[in-house]
Amino acid sequence: MSPARPRPALAALLVYAPDPTPVEIDLSDNVNPWGVPPAAEKALADPRAARPSVYPNSDPVELRRALAAYAGVEPAQVITGCGSDDVIDGALRAFAAPGEKVAYCAPSFSMLVSFARANGLEPAPVPFRRDGDIDPEALLARRAAITYVCSPNNPTGTAVSMAALQRVIAGAEGLVMVDEAYGEFSGQTAVPLLATAPHLLVTRTLSKAFGLAGLRVGYGLAAPEVVQVLEKVRGPYKVNVLGERAALAALRDDVRWVRRHVDEAIGIRERLRVSLEGLGLHPLPSAANFLCVPVVDAACLGKALLERGIKVRILRDLPGVGDAIRVGLAPWAQMERLVVALRETLR
Ligand code: PMP
Repeated sequence: MSPARPRPALAALLVYAPDPTPVEIDLSDNVNPWGVPPAAEKALADPRAARPSVYPNSDPVELRRALAAYAGVEPAQVITGCGSDDVIDGALRAFAAPGEKVAYCAPSFSMLVSFARANGLEPAPVPFRRDGDIDPEALLARRAAITYVCSPNNPTGTAVSMAALQRVIAGAEGLVMVDEAYGEFSGQTAVPLLATAPHLLVTRTLSKAFGLAGLRVGYGLAAPEVVQVLEKVRGPYKVNVLGERAALAALRDDVRWVRRHVDEAIGIRERLRVSLEGLGLHPLPSAANFLCVPVVDAACLGKALLERGIKVRILRDLPGVGDAIRVGLAPWAQMERLVVALRETLR
Protein backbone atom coordinates (compact mmCIF):
# COMPACT_ATOMS: atom_id res chain seq x y z
CA MET A 1 0.00 0.00 0.00
CA SER A 2 1.52 3.36 -0.92
CA PRO A 3 1.45 6.00 1.83
CA ALA A 4 -0.72 9.08 1.41
CA ARG A 5 1.51 11.91 0.24
CA PRO A 6 0.64 15.47 1.29
CA ARG A 7 1.63 18.21 -1.15
CA PRO A 8 5.29 19.12 -0.50
CA ALA A 9 4.41 22.79 0.19
CA LEU A 10 2.49 21.67 3.29
CA ALA A 11 5.63 20.36 5.01
CA ALA A 12 6.63 23.91 5.98
CA LEU A 13 3.19 24.75 7.41
CA LEU A 14 2.50 24.77 11.12
CA VAL A 15 -0.94 24.07 12.55
CA TYR A 16 -2.43 27.27 14.02
CA ALA A 17 -2.18 26.51 17.72
CA PRO A 18 -2.47 29.43 20.10
CA ASP A 19 -1.49 28.69 23.71
CA PRO A 20 -4.53 26.90 25.20
CA THR A 21 -3.61 27.57 28.87
CA PRO A 22 -6.74 28.92 30.60
CA VAL A 23 -6.02 32.22 32.34
CA GLU A 24 -7.81 34.83 34.36
CA ILE A 25 -7.17 37.65 31.89
CA ASP A 26 -6.84 36.69 28.23
CA LEU A 27 -5.55 39.58 26.12
CA SER A 28 -4.17 37.37 23.35
CA ASP A 29 -6.98 37.16 20.79
CA ASN A 30 -8.26 40.71 20.18
CA VAL A 31 -11.88 39.61 20.55
CA ASN A 32 -14.52 41.72 22.30
CA PRO A 33 -13.79 41.52 26.06
CA TRP A 34 -17.21 43.04 26.81
CA GLY A 35 -18.75 39.85 25.45
CA VAL A 36 -21.76 39.14 23.27
CA PRO A 37 -24.01 42.11 22.37
CA PRO A 38 -27.44 41.89 24.05
CA ALA A 39 -29.75 41.28 21.07
CA ALA A 40 -27.44 38.55 19.77
CA GLU A 41 -27.38 36.95 23.20
CA LYS A 42 -31.16 36.97 23.33
CA ALA A 43 -31.35 35.46 19.85
CA LEU A 44 -29.18 32.59 21.08
CA ALA A 45 -31.23 31.95 24.23
CA ASP A 46 -33.33 29.27 22.57
CA PRO A 47 -31.07 27.48 20.07
CA ARG A 48 -34.03 25.44 18.78
CA ALA A 49 -35.47 28.61 17.26
CA ALA A 50 -32.60 28.51 14.77
CA ARG A 51 -33.71 25.01 13.67
CA PRO A 52 -30.34 23.25 14.00
CA SER A 53 -31.71 20.02 12.53
CA VAL A 54 -31.98 21.48 9.02
CA TYR A 55 -29.35 23.01 6.77
CA PRO A 56 -28.87 26.76 6.80
CA ASN A 57 -29.91 28.78 3.76
CA SER A 58 -27.51 27.92 0.94
CA ASP A 59 -27.60 31.63 0.19
CA PRO A 60 -28.10 33.59 3.43
CA VAL A 61 -29.98 36.40 1.66
CA GLU A 62 -31.26 38.08 4.79
CA LEU A 63 -27.80 38.17 6.31
CA ARG A 64 -26.32 39.53 3.09
CA ARG A 65 -28.98 42.26 3.10
CA ALA A 66 -28.24 43.18 6.72
CA LEU A 67 -24.47 43.25 6.11
CA ALA A 68 -24.97 45.34 2.97
CA ALA A 69 -27.04 47.87 4.90
CA TYR A 70 -24.41 48.02 7.66
CA ALA A 71 -21.54 48.45 5.18
CA GLY A 72 -23.36 50.77 2.77
CA VAL A 73 -23.23 48.54 -0.31
CA GLU A 74 -25.70 46.45 -2.36
CA PRO A 75 -26.57 42.88 -1.20
CA ALA A 76 -25.10 41.52 -4.47
CA GLN A 77 -21.73 42.88 -3.28
CA VAL A 78 -21.67 40.70 -0.15
CA ILE A 79 -20.17 37.23 0.28
CA THR A 80 -20.41 35.50 3.66
CA GLY A 81 -18.16 32.84 5.12
CA CYS A 82 -17.17 30.78 8.14
CA GLY A 83 -15.22 33.66 9.63
CA SER A 84 -13.33 36.07 7.39
CA ASP A 85 -10.62 33.38 7.35
CA ASP A 86 -12.92 31.47 5.02
CA VAL A 87 -13.41 34.44 2.70
CA ILE A 88 -9.65 35.15 2.58
CA ASP A 89 -8.83 31.50 1.92
CA GLY A 90 -11.44 31.28 -0.85
CA ALA A 91 -10.26 34.51 -2.48
CA LEU A 92 -6.68 33.20 -2.60
CA ARG A 93 -7.91 30.04 -4.31
CA ALA A 94 -10.22 31.91 -6.67
CA PHE A 95 -7.96 34.71 -7.88
CA ALA A 96 -4.50 33.13 -8.04
CA ALA A 97 -3.38 29.92 -9.76
CA PRO A 98 -0.88 27.59 -8.05
CA GLY A 99 2.62 29.04 -8.31
CA GLU A 100 1.41 32.67 -8.47
CA LYS A 101 2.35 35.27 -5.88
CA VAL A 102 0.54 36.92 -2.99
CA ALA A 103 2.21 40.24 -2.14
CA TYR A 104 1.88 41.78 1.31
CA CYS A 105 3.81 43.96 3.72
CA ALA A 106 5.41 41.96 6.56
CA PRO A 107 4.77 41.42 9.37
CA SER A 108 1.07 40.81 8.84
CA PHE A 109 -1.74 38.34 9.61
CA SER A 110 0.03 34.99 10.01
CA MET A 111 -2.81 32.95 8.51
CA LEU A 112 -2.42 34.76 5.19
CA VAL A 113 0.90 33.01 4.65
CA SER A 114 -0.51 29.64 5.70
CA PHE A 115 -3.55 29.97 3.45
CA ALA A 116 -1.35 31.09 0.55
CA ARG A 117 0.94 28.07 0.93
CA ALA A 118 -1.97 25.67 1.43
CA ASN A 119 -3.39 26.93 -1.87
CA GLY A 120 -0.08 26.39 -3.67
CA LEU A 121 0.71 30.11 -3.87
CA GLU A 122 3.97 31.89 -3.19
CA PRO A 123 3.92 34.39 -0.31
CA ALA A 124 5.81 37.50 -1.48
CA PRO A 125 6.48 39.78 1.52
CA VAL A 126 7.95 43.29 1.26
CA PRO A 127 8.92 45.55 4.18
CA PHE A 128 6.69 48.31 5.52
CA ARG A 129 7.95 51.84 4.92
CA ARG A 130 9.89 53.42 7.76
CA ASP A 131 6.85 55.56 8.67
CA GLY A 132 4.81 52.37 9.20
CA ASP A 133 2.69 52.74 6.06
CA ILE A 134 2.59 50.08 3.33
CA ASP A 135 5.07 50.51 0.48
CA PRO A 136 2.95 50.65 -2.72
CA GLU A 137 5.84 50.57 -5.17
CA ALA A 138 7.46 47.56 -3.49
CA LEU A 139 4.10 45.74 -3.43
CA LEU A 140 3.39 46.50 -7.09
CA ALA A 141 6.93 45.46 -8.10
CA ARG A 142 6.01 41.91 -7.00
CA ARG A 143 3.49 41.78 -9.87
CA ALA A 144 1.40 39.44 -7.76
CA ALA A 145 -1.91 37.85 -8.68
CA ILE A 146 -3.18 39.03 -5.28
CA THR A 147 -2.05 41.97 -3.17
CA TYR A 148 -3.10 41.77 0.48
CA VAL A 149 -3.32 44.84 2.71
CA CYS A 150 -4.36 44.41 6.33
CA SER A 151 -5.72 47.64 7.81
CA PRO A 152 -5.41 48.05 10.72
CA ASN A 153 -2.58 45.58 10.41
CA ASN A 154 -2.33 42.55 12.66
CA PRO A 155 0.01 42.37 14.57
CA THR A 156 1.39 45.94 14.41
CA GLY A 157 -1.92 47.85 14.64
CA THR A 158 -1.08 50.44 11.99
CA ALA A 159 -3.72 51.59 9.50
CA VAL A 160 -2.89 52.07 5.84
CA SER A 161 -3.03 55.60 4.42
CA MET A 162 -5.71 56.10 1.79
CA ALA A 163 -3.11 57.57 -0.61
CA ALA A 164 -0.95 54.42 -0.42
CA LEU A 165 -3.98 52.15 -0.79
CA GLN A 166 -5.25 54.07 -3.80
CA ARG A 167 -1.83 53.76 -5.42
CA VAL A 168 -1.89 49.98 -4.92
CA ILE A 169 -5.41 49.72 -6.32
CA ALA A 170 -4.50 51.85 -9.35
CA GLY A 171 -1.37 49.83 -10.16
CA ALA A 172 -2.21 46.25 -9.14
CA GLU A 173 -2.35 43.61 -11.85
CA GLY A 174 -4.76 41.32 -9.98
CA LEU A 175 -7.05 41.26 -6.96
CA VAL A 176 -6.43 43.71 -4.11
CA MET A 177 -7.67 42.31 -0.80
CA VAL A 178 -8.06 44.74 2.10
CA ASP A 179 -8.51 42.92 5.41
CA GLU A 180 -10.60 45.11 7.73
CA ALA A 181 -11.05 42.61 10.57
CA TYR A 182 -10.28 45.51 12.94
CA GLY A 183 -11.78 48.21 10.71
CA GLU A 184 -14.37 49.37 13.27
CA PHE A 185 -11.57 50.56 15.56
CA SER A 186 -9.83 52.63 12.90
CA GLY A 187 -12.59 55.00 11.77
CA GLN A 188 -11.63 54.43 8.13
CA THR A 189 -12.59 51.94 5.46
CA ALA A 190 -11.76 51.06 1.87
CA VAL A 191 -15.45 50.43 1.09
CA PRO A 192 -16.02 53.72 -0.85
CA LEU A 193 -13.22 52.66 -3.22
CA LEU A 194 -15.36 49.69 -4.34
CA ALA A 195 -17.35 52.09 -6.54
CA THR A 196 -14.38 52.51 -8.88
CA ALA A 197 -12.31 49.36 -8.24
CA PRO A 198 -13.77 46.17 -9.77
CA HIS A 199 -10.72 44.22 -8.54
CA LEU A 200 -11.05 45.20 -4.84
CA LEU A 201 -12.25 42.83 -2.10
CA VAL A 202 -12.73 44.12 1.45
CA THR A 203 -12.91 41.36 4.08
CA ARG A 204 -14.54 41.90 7.47
CA THR A 205 -15.76 39.90 10.42
CA LEU A 206 -18.23 39.78 13.29
CA SER A 207 -15.49 38.20 15.45
CA LYS A 208 -13.94 41.40 16.78
CA ALA A 209 -16.03 44.53 17.42
CA PHE A 210 -19.28 42.50 17.19
CA GLY A 211 -18.25 40.02 19.88
CA LEU A 212 -19.27 36.87 17.99
CA ALA A 213 -15.90 35.16 17.39
CA GLY A 214 -17.18 31.75 18.49
CA LEU A 215 -19.98 31.78 15.94
CA ARG A 216 -17.59 32.25 12.99
CA VAL A 217 -19.34 34.80 10.79
CA GLY A 218 -17.20 36.71 8.33
CA TYR A 219 -17.92 38.51 5.09
CA GLY A 220 -16.41 40.11 2.04
CA LEU A 221 -17.49 43.15 0.03
CA ALA A 222 -16.69 43.41 -3.66
CA ALA A 223 -18.14 43.88 -7.14
CA PRO A 224 -20.96 41.36 -7.83
CA GLU A 225 -18.74 39.63 -10.41
CA VAL A 226 -16.08 39.00 -7.74
CA VAL A 227 -18.73 37.80 -5.28
CA GLN A 228 -20.05 35.28 -7.83
CA VAL A 229 -16.58 33.80 -8.29
CA LEU A 230 -16.07 33.61 -4.52
CA GLU A 231 -19.37 31.76 -4.17
CA LYS A 232 -18.12 29.09 -6.57
CA VAL A 233 -15.04 28.30 -4.51
CA ARG A 234 -16.61 28.68 -1.07
CA GLY A 235 -19.28 26.01 -1.21
CA PRO A 236 -22.64 26.15 0.60
CA TYR A 237 -23.62 26.31 4.29
CA LYS A 238 -20.51 28.01 5.69
CA VAL A 239 -22.54 30.25 8.01
CA ASN A 240 -24.39 27.99 10.44
CA VAL A 241 -27.93 28.61 11.66
CA LEU A 242 -26.92 29.94 15.07
CA GLY A 243 -24.32 32.26 13.59
CA GLU A 244 -26.81 33.60 11.08
CA ARG A 245 -29.47 34.16 13.73
CA ALA A 246 -27.15 35.96 16.14
CA ALA A 247 -25.54 38.01 13.37
CA LEU A 248 -28.94 39.18 12.10
CA ALA A 249 -30.00 40.23 15.59
CA ALA A 250 -26.71 42.04 16.20
CA LEU A 251 -26.83 43.90 12.89
CA ARG A 252 -30.44 44.87 13.51
CA ASP A 253 -30.30 45.92 17.16
CA ASP A 254 -26.75 45.98 18.52
CA VAL A 255 -24.86 48.40 16.28
CA ARG A 256 -25.06 51.15 18.91
CA TRP A 257 -23.79 48.74 21.57
CA VAL A 258 -20.91 47.81 19.27
CA ARG A 259 -20.05 51.46 18.57
CA ARG A 260 -20.15 52.30 22.28
CA HIS A 261 -17.66 49.57 23.11
CA VAL A 262 -15.48 50.45 20.15
CA ASP A 263 -15.29 54.01 21.52
CA GLU A 264 -14.52 52.67 24.98
CA ALA A 265 -11.73 50.47 23.58
CA ILE A 266 -10.24 53.44 21.73
CA GLY A 267 -10.23 55.51 24.93
CA ILE A 268 -8.54 52.65 26.78
CA ARG A 269 -6.02 52.29 23.95
CA GLU A 270 -4.73 55.80 24.50
CA ARG A 271 -4.84 55.51 28.29
CA LEU A 272 -2.88 52.25 28.18
CA ARG A 273 -0.35 53.78 25.82
CA VAL A 274 0.41 56.50 28.38
CA SER A 275 0.76 53.91 31.18
CA LEU A 276 3.09 51.73 29.09
CA GLU A 277 5.19 54.72 28.14
CA GLY A 278 5.46 55.42 31.85
CA LEU A 279 7.13 52.01 32.15
CA GLY A 280 9.65 52.93 29.47
CA LEU A 281 7.87 50.92 26.75
CA HIS A 282 7.09 52.28 23.27
CA PRO A 283 3.90 50.77 21.82
CA LEU A 284 3.56 51.15 18.04
CA PRO A 285 0.86 53.54 16.80
CA SER A 286 -2.41 51.59 16.74
CA ALA A 287 -5.74 52.01 14.97
CA ALA A 288 -6.93 48.62 16.27
CA ASN A 289 -8.24 47.08 19.50
CA PHE A 290 -4.73 46.05 20.54
CA LEU A 291 -1.28 47.51 21.08
CA CYS A 292 1.90 45.98 19.72
CA VAL A 293 4.66 46.62 22.22
CA PRO A 294 8.29 45.96 21.24
CA VAL A 295 10.20 44.24 24.07
CA VAL A 296 13.63 42.69 24.52
CA ASP A 297 12.52 39.10 25.05
CA ALA A 298 8.85 38.42 24.29
CA ALA A 299 8.91 34.73 25.30
CA CYS A 300 10.39 35.49 28.71
CA LEU A 301 8.02 38.40 29.35
CA GLY A 302 5.00 36.43 28.11
CA LYS A 303 5.83 33.60 30.49
CA ALA A 304 6.19 35.97 33.44
CA LEU A 305 2.81 37.53 32.63
CA LEU A 306 1.22 34.09 32.30
CA GLU A 307 2.47 33.25 35.79
CA ARG A 308 0.53 36.31 36.92
CA GLY A 309 -2.67 35.12 35.19
CA ILE A 310 -2.40 37.30 32.09
CA LYS A 311 -2.06 35.98 28.56
CA VAL A 312 -0.73 38.21 25.78
CA ARG A 313 0.36 37.23 22.26
CA ILE A 314 4.08 36.56 22.07
CA LEU A 315 5.62 37.75 18.81
CA ARG A 316 9.21 36.75 18.14
CA ASP A 317 11.54 38.54 15.80
CA LEU A 318 8.98 40.44 13.75
CA PRO A 319 10.52 41.95 10.60
CA GLY A 320 11.41 45.58 11.27
CA VAL A 321 10.20 45.37 14.89
CA GLY A 322 12.03 42.54 16.69
CA ASP A 323 10.38 40.83 19.65
CA ALA A 324 7.04 42.24 20.78
CA ILE A 325 3.96 41.43 22.78
CA ARG A 326 0.48 42.10 21.37
CA VAL A 327 -1.97 43.17 24.02
CA GLY A 328 -5.73 43.20 23.39
CA LEU A 329 -7.66 46.11 24.90
CA ALA A 330 -10.07 45.24 27.69
CA PRO A 331 -11.97 47.03 30.49
CA TRP A 332 -9.61 49.30 32.40
CA ALA A 333 -9.48 47.10 35.52
CA GLN A 334 -7.81 44.39 33.42
CA MET A 335 -5.43 46.88 31.84
CA GLU A 336 -4.44 48.05 35.31
CA ARG A 337 -3.63 44.46 36.28
CA LEU A 338 -1.48 44.22 33.17
CA VAL A 339 0.39 47.42 33.98
CA VAL A 340 1.06 46.26 37.55
CA ALA A 341 2.29 42.86 36.29
CA LEU A 342 4.51 44.52 33.69
CA ARG A 343 5.95 46.87 36.30
CA GLU A 344 6.84 43.88 38.51
CA THR A 345 8.30 41.85 35.65
CA LEU A 346 10.30 44.57 33.96
CA ARG A 347 11.90 45.70 37.20
N1 PMP B 1 -7.89 38.98 9.60
C1 PMP B 1 -7.17 39.36 10.64
C2 PMP B 1 -6.21 40.49 10.47
C3 PMP B 1 -7.28 38.71 11.87
O1 PMP B 1 -6.53 39.10 12.91
C4 PMP B 1 -8.21 37.65 12.00
C5 PMP B 1 -8.41 36.90 13.29
N2 PMP B 1 -7.42 36.81 14.14
C6 PMP B 1 -8.93 37.29 10.87
C7 PMP B 1 -8.76 37.97 9.69
C8 PMP B 1 -9.89 36.14 10.87
O2 PMP B 1 -10.92 36.33 11.75
P1 PMP B 1 -12.28 35.52 11.64
O3 PMP B 1 -12.02 34.28 10.83
O4 PMP B 1 -12.66 35.24 13.03
O5 PMP B 1 -13.24 36.42 10.93
